[in-house]
Amino acid sequence: MSKPQILDGKAVAASVLDECRTEAAELVKNGITPGLAVVLVGEDPASQVYVGSKVRACGELGFHSKKIELPAETTQDELLKVVLELNADPSVHGILVQSPPPPHIDEEAIVRAIDSRKDVDGFHPENVAKLALEDPTGFVPCTPAGCMKLLEVSGIDTSGKEAVVIGRSMIVGKPMALLLVSKKANATVTIAHSRTADLPGVCRRADIVVAAVGRPEMVKADWIKPGAVVIDVGINRVDDASKKRGYRLTGDVAYEEVAPLCSAITPVPGGVGPMTIAMLMRNTLQAAKQLG
Ligand code: NAD
Repeated sequence: MSKPQILDGKAVAASVLDECRTEAAELVKNGITPGLAVVLVGEDPASQVYVGSKVRACGELGFHSKKIELPAETTQDELLKVVLELNADPSVHGILVQSPPPPHIDEEAIVRAIDSRKDVDGFHPENVAKLALEDPTGFVPCTPAGCMKLLEVSGIDTSGKEAVVIGRSMIVGKPMALLLVSKKANATVTIAHSRTADLPGVCRRADIVVAAVGRPEMVKADWIKPGAVVIDVGINRVDDASKKRGYRLTGDVAYEEVAPLCSAITPVPGGVGPMTIAMLMRNTLQAAKQLG
């Protein structure tokens, strides 16, 4: 088989960010500086890294940003109060509370408290409904939006194709399936999950496989139809003594054995990951335009 097309998320994300920078400069000329508020509760190191890169991206694009760091003991009521203040703050167009919050926080209630017009993560029920309704004023969750953008920019036609999405989370799997089945993408979609019978057999039917599970290298070569497109959303830390930090990042797909069979595949890292933050910036820009 010929070599697969490697879907370069870093390069596509950079071009999305360039577009955002240009559009933000136009908005600033009209007196609107796009603003994103990121709330972090507790000291989870991975969350600190994610929040840092979101705030940095804002700076690089000329967005205004607010980083609100709260102690792990913050109560539900205290966090709700912060969200309500941000809802009322006209300099803030996008609000996100970094997931996962400490276990005593009811995350769903917090998401519902965010003004849906500022819910740039796309997790508020109103935005979930708008995605199902294909209403473009809603916000699409950033990771699946990034997967779709990668497919589109890479010239991969999804129309009439069999797509299998592995994972049914509200953050990745379900919205990804809705995007693929939309009238824009026109794929025929199966959502697989932890109770799916004969997952390898289901995957073998697919022209497009999206893996969003959180299990390192679960998808093997014999799950893949030759010529399939494989989008690997998984980001897993695997112990690796040869690395300075003691681990390496790997996806949900056994890349080395799967890649030779594919027509196109995303690497991990450097595939879907960089797209997520680029789409967050795009959503923040959309919020700034819509709110004015
Ligand atoms: P999740 O834990 O919420 O959902 C995982 C899904 O996988 C569930 O729906 C479950 O039914 C399914 N699943 C679990 N075990 C399975 C099995 N053995 N067979 C089939 N399905 C199984 O996770 P999530 O938030 O959707 O994230 C999934 C992965 O994507 C994780 O590795 C996460 O780190 C990664 N992720 C990456 C990005 C990014 O920016 N690239 C963003 C979000 C999540």
